Amino acid sequence: MPENVVYDVVGVGFGPANLSLAVALTEHADDLTSLFLDRAPSMSWHGGMLLPGAKMQVAFLKDLATFRNPVSRFSFVAYLHDTGRLAQFVNNRDFFTTRRDFHAYLDWAEAGLADQVRRGVTVTGIEPTGNGDSMRVLMEGANGTDSTEARNVVISTGLVPKMPPGIAEDQYVWHSSRFLDNYRAVRGPLRRVGVAGAGQSAAELVRYLYDHLPDAEIFAFVPSYGYSVADSTPFANRVFDPQGMDDFYSAPAQTKSAIWQYHKNTNYSVVDDGVIRDLYQRAYDEETSGRDRLHFHTMARVESAKRMADDTRVTVYSMLSDSSYELDLDVLICATGYDPMDPAKLLGGMDGCLARDEEGRYRVRRDHRLVTASESACGVYLQGGTEHTHGLSASLLSNIAIRSGEIADSVAAAKRARR
Ligand SMILES: Cc1cc2nc3c(=O)[nH]c(=O)nc-3n(C[C@H](O)[C@H](O)[C@H](O)COP(=O)(O)OP(=O)(O)OC[C@H]3O[C@@H](n4cnc5c(N)ncnc54)[C@H](O)[C@@H]3O)c2cc1C
Repeated sequence: MPENVVYDVVGVGFGPANLSLAVALTEHADDLTSLFLDRAPSMSWHGGMLLPGAKMQVAFLKDLATFRNPVSRFSFVAYLHDTGRLAQFVNNRDFFTTRRDFHAYLDWAEAGLADQVRRGVTVTGIEPTGNGDSMRVLMEGANGTDSTEARNVVISTGLVPKMPPGIAEDQYVWHSSRFLDNYRAVRGPLRRVGVAGAGQSAAELVRYLYDHLPDAEIFAFVPSYGYSVADSTPFANRVFDPQGMDDFYSAPAQTKSAIWQYHKNTNYSVVDDGVIRDLYQRAYDEETSGRDRLHFHTMARVESAKRMADDTRVTVYSMLSDSSYELDLDVLICATGYDPMDPAKLLGGMDGCLARDEEGRYRVRRDHRLVTASESACGVYLQGGTEHTHGLSASLLSNIAIRSGEIADSVAAAKRARR
């Protein structure tokens, strides 16, 4: 790490959100220095769920840059052009590319910004330096501990995988976020696999396992009566527009909560129509062919999982019969969602300088900067973890280009004011 350098921005995490910020800083009219740190050795955008054919849930134009700068050289269209696939993409007439294609786009964009990124380092804390003008970002990597200094830190460490209460991950009980790594490491055939959950990942996994394990029985433990469809209709989608973020931010608390209630079915615990239909077709085909290896246990929650000899014994609670039963599986996959990003642990010594609301949540300015308890020249910004202030798109891709532009503008304005 170069000594005596104080970066304008140090980014913690280099997923799509901070990659978009790196693009915004590069394209900014002001000269802003930056460094991005990520614990992963290479871009791994939900690598455990990069199932073949899995589609994006956001239109390709909501890429790293286009909504902020439609002529950016880091747009998805520029990527298609650069890789010689623009015509083929357009022929397909599909706004929603595959997650694998989007991952390749992220890799392509990162390659154009490689000098701003340091990978294989885990940020462990952020401390005030004492001069009131900068923070020290602490990190650990293969070469031991290190640190660097920043005037602004932008935290974007992503969603946190959530297991059902009382169930821990082990060799045979996996969270969906680690599915592909674990699946590839399995030795011997899988005969009985369970998937717990009712959201997009759960439905995609049931479909994938059913198609890829033709001799296995697949059990879907769905806590609702059926999968609910994701509302991607145009009026509802406006909640993800930049204007939607503005409206949410300035709305009173009860309106914020109403927006959540009305529109959480755009993203949370819901499944794309096409995946639901694919699953239903498979269930129907089973009935007509007389096969019986796809089992939907609805209104059912997995309560516990323990290893018994060669099996994972799961206890399932049926809300329909108000009783529990046991089932022996080879593997249980918990597609039970994610908690929002919580930067408290990372903030270490800086945490005490930040203001919280009456519910203990960070106060966040419209420009995504955390409010400090007293006047401070240092800025801590969040990309994610701001659902309570910025609404449904806080941890999604929909607004990353605009949000990154707003952060870059805010950092630049503060730098000018300092001068
Ligand atoms: C399977 C799946 C599919 C999804 N598909 C969509 C979609 O189609 N559309 C959409 O809008 N949203 C989607 N989402 C939501 C998702 O939050 C966003 O796609 C996106 O990943 C957010 O980007 P991010 O950069 O904030 O976080 P992430 O992509 O999670 O990146 C966070 C990065 O921080 C790094 N990191 C974490 N802790 C540290 C640390 N202490 N030190 C250093 N580095 C650290 C990680 O290695 C990671 O690279 C999906 C989520 C999942 C789980």
